[in-house]
Amino acid sequence: MTLSNSTAEIRRLDAAHHLHPFTNTRELNARGARVITQSSGVYLQDSEGNRILDGMSGLWCVNAGHGRRDIIDAVSRQLEELTFYNTFFNTTHPSVAELSGLLSEVTPPQFNYFHYTGSGSESNDTIFRLVRYYWELEGKPEKSIFISRRGGYHGSTVAAASLGGFGSMHKQGGLPIAGIYHAPSPDWWSYGGDMSSDEFGLHVAHQTLSLIDAIGSDRIGAMIGEPIMGAGGVIVPPKTYWPALSAGLKERDILLISDEVICGFGRTGEWFGCELMGTEPDFLTMAKGITSGYIPLGAVGVSDRVAKVLLEKGGEFAHGHTYSGHPAACAAAIATLKILREEKLVDRVRTDIGPYLKQKWKTLADHPIVGEAVIEGLIGAFQFTKDKSSRKGFDEDARIGMIAREHSFKNGLVMRAVGDRMVIAPPFTLTHEEADELVSIAQKVIELTYADAKSNGLI
Ligand code: PMP
Repeated sequence: MTLSNSTAEIRRLDAAHHLHPFTNTRELNARGARVITQSSGVYLQDSEGNRILDGMSGLWCVNAGHGRRDIIDAVSRQLEELTFYNTFFNTTHPSVAELSGLLSEVTPPQFNYFHYTGSGSESNDTIFRLVRYYWELEGKPEKSIFISRRGGYHGSTVAAASLGGFGSMHKQGGLPIAGIYHAPSPDWWSYGGDMSSDEFGLHVAHQTLSLIDAIGSDRIGAMIGEPIMGAGGVIVPPKTYWPALSAGLKERDILLISDEVICGFGRTGEWFGCELMGTEPDFLTMAKGITSGYIPLGAVGVSDRVAKVLLEKGGEFAHGHTYSGHPAACAAAIATLKILREEKLVDRVRTDIGPYLKQKWKTLADHPIVGEAVIEGLIGAFQFTKDKSSRKGFDEDARIGMIAREHSFKNGLVMRAVGDRMVIAPPFTLTHEEADELVSIAQKVIELTYADAKSNGLI
């Protein structure tokens, strides 16, 4: 069946049978979904022929750009050679072994063992079990509590959603599960008050360590955090935050899980966000950019400290997924890592396109309705505000972010709205001209949103 010629028919079937993720499907059905049909480089095309700059790399994942022949060919070759075999019953296959070797080269030096899943959520649920198993093997089963953060995002399976700090998710399905405490967010814009960014970073690190001490560090197994919070609105923490916090965790013998699902594989201009923040985690959560989004794959990096205990004291780890190390996904990951290395795309993010986009992106904050414009590598955001000096927000009902998101799509750019923050994470192959286009559409979106806010009496 080919539906490619009929937008109306696609919308009809979709509305009748598709329950969308993170969507009010009733509202969507009344409107009709936007139908995306093609992609190439940094551009998408919809079913009506509109070209849209993919400022979000799909969903923070298509880092090497859309339609790369080398990744597509690698996947197709793999499917012909070995379509599928599992990695459970004393078996392996060449691609999963090769990928594991490559990951040990590109991840920080303490990571030499990797476990595979199908997504970032499954990776975090896996780590949840691994942390507790590790402490059981170490004779400290009481170290079973996790610290995470309000505003952090770690996925939507049961443990991952519980670790996340989104009240809207916790409300559905009786979450969070027991044994998780949420520490404050290092979001200076929202909560920094009169403190400087550096003061606020130290303040939140100390608040977190005080929470840990109140619970008792002998009961806490691990803390999880994204180096830069992504889905929470691209919250780049003050530079004092991670060094103070990670030193405090080390002193208290609490493991650190760096959730690199967005920051990993070059997004921040370093291979992993923990390297930018100067932390030395015990676990890495990986997904998305590992395959540049071509095929689903998640992975867990296990540090030497943890792996040694699992291998020497543990037996069978009773955990795994049918698609742990799916050959086609591993082939996509190998091809992606080759591209990142051969085209020096991580360096390009750090020294070329990142800084180029940054100097333009920062100018968005010159507008009276934009409070701050932040960007690190190729992950950025700007914040709408009613009043810059007091950092006052709009009423939630005004849905300023949603208004801006619609303007953005209509004008040919995908930006994501998180409350009143507009977020970008474009592919690493973005050219200077494409960066110019991105910023000029963002400027137009700001003007249009400003005009709407004025005519609706919001400012
Ligand atoms: N961790 C982080 C930091 C993420 O951003 C996401 C997804 N946006 C996840 C975990 C969950 O990954 P997935 O959607 O692949 O389950």
